[in-house]
Amino acid sequence: MAQQQPIFVLPEGTQRLLGRDAQRTNILAGKVLAETVRTTLGPKGMDKMLVDNLGDIVVTNDGVTILKEMDIEHPAAKMLVEVAKTQEDEVGDGTTTAVIIAGELLKQSEDLLDMDIHPTIIAMGYRQAAEKAQEILDEIAISDIDTEMLEKVAMTAMTGKGTEKAREPLAEIVVKAVEQVADNGEVDTDHIKIEKKEGAVVEDTKLVQGVIIDKERVHQGMPSEIKDAKIAILNSALEVKETEVDAEIRITDPNQMQAFIEQEEQMLKDMVSKISDAGANVLFCQKGIDDLAQHYLAKEGILAVRRVKKSDIEKLSKATGATIVSNVEDLTSDDLGNAGSVTEKKVSGENMIFVENCSEPKAVTILVRGSTKHVADEIKRAIEDAIGVVAATVEDGQVVAGGGAPEVAIAKRLKDYAESISGREQLAVNAFAESLEVVPKTLAENAGIDSIDSLVDLRAAHEKSTTMGLNVFNGEVTDMKEAGVIEPKRVKKQAIQSASEAAEMILRIDDVISSSGSGDDAAAAAAAQQQMGGMPGMM
Ligand code: ADP
Ligand code: MG
Repeated sequence: MAQQQPIFVLPEGTQRLLGRDAQRTNILAGKVLAETVRTTLGPKGMDKMLVDNLGDIVVTNDGVTILKEMDIEHPAAKMLVEVAKTQEDEVGDGTTTAVIIAGELLKQSEDLLDMDIHPTIIAMGYRQAAEKAQEILDEIAISDIDTEMLEKVAMTAMTGKGTEKAREPLAEIVVKAVEQVADNGEVDTDHIKIEKKEGAVVEDTKLVQGVIIDKERVHQGMPSEIKDAKIAILNSALEVKETEVDAEIRITDPNQMQAFIEQEEQMLKDMVSKISDAGANVLFCQKGIDDLAQHYLAKEGILAVRRVKKSDIEKLSKATGATIVSNVEDLTSDDLGNAGSVTEKKVSGENMIFVENCSEPKAVTILVRGSTKHVADEIKRAIEDAIGVVAATVEDGQVVAGGGAPEVAIAKRLKDYAESISGREQLAVNAFAESLEVVPKTLAENAGIDSIDSLVDLRAAHEKSTTMGLNVFNGEVTDMKEAGVIEPKRVKKQAIQSASEAAEMILRIDDVISSSGSGDDAAAAAAAQQQMGGMPGMM
């Protein structure tokens, strides 16, 4: 009998998990990840301190920030991190919610798997439930949105994020900023610049109708303040172009040298004249400005800033109405933008250029202040979340109540819907409904309130109204719409959708094949073991 040769399909050292083992490990990884961010949910959620390998510290309550800073290895856990990132990109808030729901969907699926329900059936049931959940959300959404409602949306997003002292003024600032840059009901949040400087209290955070540039004027001889500014924006250098090839210029007599220098001087002088003739008294240049040109600009009384970031150049153009010009020769008065004032100001010992009081600017800046770097960072994240939710609300014109209200409302209707479904998918739809209840449960837990009692009360209250949620400050079930705890519909829509998609995807995996990285000790050990086991005679 011929000895059978072993067949190697996969390279040596490849690790493989199959069937239930693969599912169990993936589910476990997802659950562990969700557990990690769970304690941060809601106004009473705790913060996490993250320390990277350089010793840099981030203190935050923001789901996606935590997950981004953590060094996550497990592939299934990485998929949940993606859920958080998508949520962040699409709406800018609800990242913790999305991950917690995904974790709970996975946890619930374990029970179903134990009942021998096939993973594809579970995934299908989840898909059905997720689609139905979207319909329900549309039904319970609230559509009468005014400025006050927008401010409530902003405040809800900032609750528990270190903004407590100044939640109302900050919400006002955020709403004003979003309304300012809104264009036909569309909001490009890139047009709201957030500039952050520590060294002052949160209450000093302010909205600037224009742009703040973290730079100083290029020359001390220039004015540090210009009223009624006429602004030129240049995206090329204000220099005499160096010859492209290494041309050698032979100078034979000193007069020639002199003429050469004079010619260069004249060219720079002409460039500056072009700018002053156009009527500009402020110049923002994306590239460098020659020393001599700086001198001439100063002589003309023009305030100039060089090496301004491309993104800032674009914002400046949006805010002031100036055209970005590539060739100074082409500059005319039509290209200039306007601002009430351009001023160099000291903020915490550093000079910054304030381009302010633009009329009807399409780009604005929020100058975020905080006593220390860590405080300012966390305030900035809270403001970013608030901008995201207010923008989503302005665009969609629809909100839902918070405090677990929509989750309970959807769960209730999903359970009714499950009755109409035959077969084992029904169990999956029910599991989906229960998974959504993890949101109010977690809000309660994090506030030290009995989560089972709260859920019972919430379910009862939902017999009458869809806006009943949990007030985490007193543990009572209240009408969240009246309490002013409001969230954009899009946050919930996106959270439910991406959580469900991630859970479905993880459930459908029954084979994890990991190639061994070179430094992977575990894989190497496994490979060594295999080799030893495979050649007993050699020992
Ligand atoms: P996420 O990253 O998911 O946005 P948060 O920590 O911001 O996580 O918590 C959001 C949850 O907190 C939402 O369910 C929201 O409705 C709830 N919430 C916010 N403010 C209140 C409040 N005052 N009372 C009860 N729940 C609140
Ligand atoms: Mg939030």
